[in-house]
Amino acid sequence: MIKRTVLLIYTGGTIGMIKDKDSGTLVPFNFDDLLNRMPELNQLDCDIETFTLKNPIDSSNIQPSDWLDLAGKLEEFYDDYDGFVILHGTDTMSYTASALSFLLENLRKPVIFTGSQLPISDFRTDAKENLITAIQIASDYDNSNNAIIQEVGLYFENKLYRGNRTTKINSEHFEAFASFNYPSLAESGVHLNYKRHLFPERNQEKLKVYKKLDQNVAIIRLFPGLTESILDAIINIKGLKGLILETYGSGNAPNKEWFVNSIGRAVKNGIIVVNVTQCPAGMVDHSLYEVGLQMRKLGVVGGRDMTTEAAITKLMFVLGNETFSNSSEKCLRINLRGEIKDREEKF
Ligand code: ASP
Repeated sequence: MIKRTVLLIYTGGTIGMIKDKDSGTLVPFNFDDLLNRMPELNQLDCDIETFTLKNPIDSSNIQPSDWLDLAGKLEEFYDDYDGFVILHGTDTMSYTASALSFLLENLRKPVIFTGSQLPISDFRTDAKENLITAIQIASDYDNSNNAIIQEVGLYFENKLYRGNRTTKINSEHFEAFASFNYPSLAESGVHLNYKRHLFPERNQEKLKVYKKLDQNVAIIRLFPGLTESILDAIINIKGLKGLILETYGSGNAPNKEWFVNSIGRAVKNGIIVVNVTQCPAGMVDHSLYEVGLQMRKLGVVGGRDMTTEAAITKLMFVLGNETFSNSSEKCLRINLRGEIKDREEKF
C-alpha cells in the first residue's frame, strides 16, 4: 500500500482557535503542532503536512481574491500531495467551496473543506471528528490508484457533501450544513460509506486552474414591499454585469408592470439575470406559473436547483473568464461541476 500524503491548509475560522491562557480570547492555533496535540492523527495511514495562510481570517472577511489565491496554492502543490483538506470558517465555507469547484477544472484529487462549530481546544469540540474524517477522505484511494473523491467536497458532522451544493443552515448545531438538492456523497458511521453512483464522470484531462472572477455582480432577494426605486438603484449600478434574483417558490416574481420593465431593461442592457429560488429545496421551473413564464419571456436564465452560493460564484466565474464570453448564458444553464441538475433545459 502506498502511503498517501495530505496537505492541510488552514485559512482561519473557529476550528483553528484555542483559548489564550492570559486573555481568555480565541487565538489561532499553531497547526505545525497539530500532530502533538492530536496524536490520534498518527493512526491514519498517511503523512500530513500543514500550511497556514499568513494571516488566517474569520471567513466573513473572505474575498474572491482569496479564492483565487487558494486555487493558486492548490495548483502549486497539486503534484506534491494526494489530497487536500482546507480548514475554513463555517460562515462562508459554502461560497468558497462553490468558487473553488469552478476554478479547478478536471480535479483528480480530493479537495475537502471542513471546519467546526467549537474551537479545536474545546473539550466538547466537533473539530476532531470533522478533521480526522476529512483527512481520511482526502487520503482515500482505490486499488487502481485513483482517488475515491475527485472533486471539491465539504465534510461536516458525519456527511460528505458536494461543496457547491451546500448551504450553512445552522449557527449553533453541529449539523451546520445541508445539501437540500443533492444527496450526500458519503456518510460516516461505523463505516465510511461512499455513494459512488453520485460521483461525477471521471476524466483524464489535466488540471486547469482559472485565474479570474468578475465581482460586478449582485443578489436581490425579492420580498413583498420591494420598491421600483430600490430595484432600479441596483439594476442601474454602473458596470453591473450579472444579477442573481432570489425569487419565490418555483421561480415566481411579481408581474407588475414596473417590475417586468426593470428586469426587461436589465436584460436588454446586457446584464445576465439568473433566477434561483428562496426555498432551501426544490427548483426554478419557469413553465409552471404565468408569473414564472414571464421571467422566461424577459430572457432571465433559470437557475434550476442551484444554491445562491453556487449561482453567485458561477456568475463571477463565467463573467470573469473570456473562454465563456460568447456563451456565458449557456454556461450558467448547463452543468459545469455538478452544481445544477443535469438535463437539457427547455428554458
Ligand atoms: N465566524 C467564523 C468563521 O466563519 C465561524 C466559524 O468558523 O464557524 O470564520
